[in-house]
Amino acid sequence: MQSRFTFELDGEDCRVERENTHRTLAGFLSELDPCFAHFANDASWRGGHLVVLGDLKGDRHRFRAVDAQLLMLPMLSGRQVWTPEGIRNAEPDHPVNLALHNGHLECGRARGDAVVALMFEGYYRPDLRRHVQSNDQFDAIITRSANIPAIREVAAQVFASAAQLRNEYGNKVTESDEESTERLENKDIFEDRFTKSLFDLKSRAFLSYVDDSKRRFHQPSNLVELLKLKREYPDAQFIAGGTELAQQSGKVGWSNLISLEDVKELTGITIAKDFWDIGAAVPLTEIAEELGSECEAFNKVICRFGSRAIRNRASLGGYLATAWESGQLTPLLMALQARVILLSEEGERDAPISNFYKDGGGTILNPNEVIRSIIIPRYNESSLSERGVTARLCNTYTAAPRRTLCEPYATGGFAVELCGRKVSKAWIAYSGINQHPVRAREAERFLAGKRWGEKTVFEMLPILVDTVKVTDHRNEIAGSDYRKQLVVTLFQKFLFHHPTPESIRPESLTAAVDFAKLNQPFFDEIAD
Ligand SMILES: Cc1cc2nc3c(=O)[nH]c(=O)nc-3n(C[C@H](O)[C@H](O)[C@H](O)COP(=O)(O)OP(=O)(O)OC[C@H]3O[C@@H](n4cnc5c(N)ncnc54)[C@H](O)[C@@H]3O)c2cc1C
Repeated sequence: MQSRFTFELDGEDCRVERENTHRTLAGFLSELDPCFAHFANDASWRGGHLVVLGDLKGDRHRFRAVDAQLLMLPMLSGRQVWTPEGIRNAEPDHPVNLALHNGHLECGRARGDAVVALMFEGYYRPDLRRHVQSNDQFDAIITRSANIPAIREVAAQVFASAAQLRNEYGNKVTESDEESTERLENKDIFEDRFTKSLFDLKSRAFLSYVDDSKRRFHQPSNLVELLKLKREYPDAQFIAGGTELAQQSGKVGWSNLISLEDVKELTGITIAKDFWDIGAAVPLTEIAEELGSECEAFNKVICRFGSRAIRNRASLGGYLATAWESGQLTPLLMALQARVILLSEEGERDAPISNFYKDGGGTILNPNEVIRSIIIPRYNESSLSERGVTARLCNTYTAAPRRTLCEPYATGGFAVELCGRKVSKAWIAYSGINQHPVRAREAERFLAGKRWGEKTVFEMLPILVDTVKVTDHRNEIAGSDYRKQLVVTLFQKFLFHHPTPESIRPESLTAAVDFAKLNQPFFDEIAD
């Protein structure tokens, strides 16, 4: 085992020696140099102390804004980190620095730093093309106390300058006889100091780190090594993105941490004809990049999950293992009929997400098991028509005190499969209303075989009210009566939004609109 490692900090090698395995990057920086002293302040309530992690995976390079308070030091071994100070100083003429220097953002130091990190990440994002995505980049971090129009204006300038570079490069490739199918992200089209040093980064070496208190941090590179370590240290705690665990790092002492971040079988997404096989340690941002264009509901719910910086680290496996009863992803995963694959030395088992949670809280995951992957079916025309299904409507809705960074009151995930106008099968799932996510099976059974439309749904709503149990386990958040009402209104939104297989209405309704009356039509009947 080793008691030291290095990472790249603002372009220089930074040596870490005999530091506590639980130490966060924010804590480390605050004592490293007076210019980083502000990292000592607790900033979790306003979105954290953001830094940027360089991420080079195979042929793909990315910069990801992440919260330094949620990164444990050994996670950084062999990686590249840029602080907002480092970004400003390394290349004052970088488009982000120039634009921010001239803009009047009217925000304090912590938010100003967050804007630098998020703007920097956005500049290199090849998928940032639309205005609404630019809002999402800053969502939850930038609040009323900043000059939001000015930030948007600067972001538009910065992202447009990156798009121009990409276009110029794309034109050059087309003019020359190079392979036009070559992926742009394979190339350093920016050729600035940041991308150059990212492309120069050596691949990460296996880390097995021990601190002065004999606490160990293991970073296996494959499942065989991982299972071996788990046998050797049965009490070891798995750690993926660390967004949940790092919050407890000051209070809990784990003698062994096994990182999943470098386990190759857990960090990729396999795209098959009929399903995605998502490695349990893949961060949510990367999943949305892969699935989002085909599964819009996933993109939609992801935008309300924490903030960009949280999604850049939080993994789907970590989300499921945490089993937070208000988590917004589970109802959609149930409606999509996702499955979870669990692995231990005894072998593999496979369970639908609907059977993963235990009544009263917790999951079926055993202490010696790791979540290997999550399988999400792809619903394309050919896979549906094989089963005689003519349309699959699927969506998810959340009611919460704020858009992001809060505990949702309730989330619903819904799907109906139709043969013509008739429902062949339905999925109705909720989180936040009980100690564990639930399916409304009686209501699902009622819908099967009925004609999809307002009349059927009106007949079904009393079944939802009668059979879906809402407990008062967190009555300080919202009363159970209110949450019971949400069980109904969230499903009504689904019908309103997808009244017929052919038509999708814009999502104009909000939770504030009173349309929960069970016996009154809430929109004009759609002509057949
Ligand atoms: C600011 C903030 C905002 C948040 N917002 C939301 C939100 O809007 N909605 C929401 O649902 N959650 C939210 N969370 C919580 C979030 O779900 C979790 O932090 C995250 O999904 C956990 O993933 P991770 O990879 O970071 O897990 P880690 O922190 O690495 O691990 C969490 C737990 O899961 C276990 N684990 C991880 N991976 C595996 C695996 N493959 N197999 C077995 N066990 C495993 C670990 O041992 C640990 O016990 C938020 C958290 C923060 C800090």
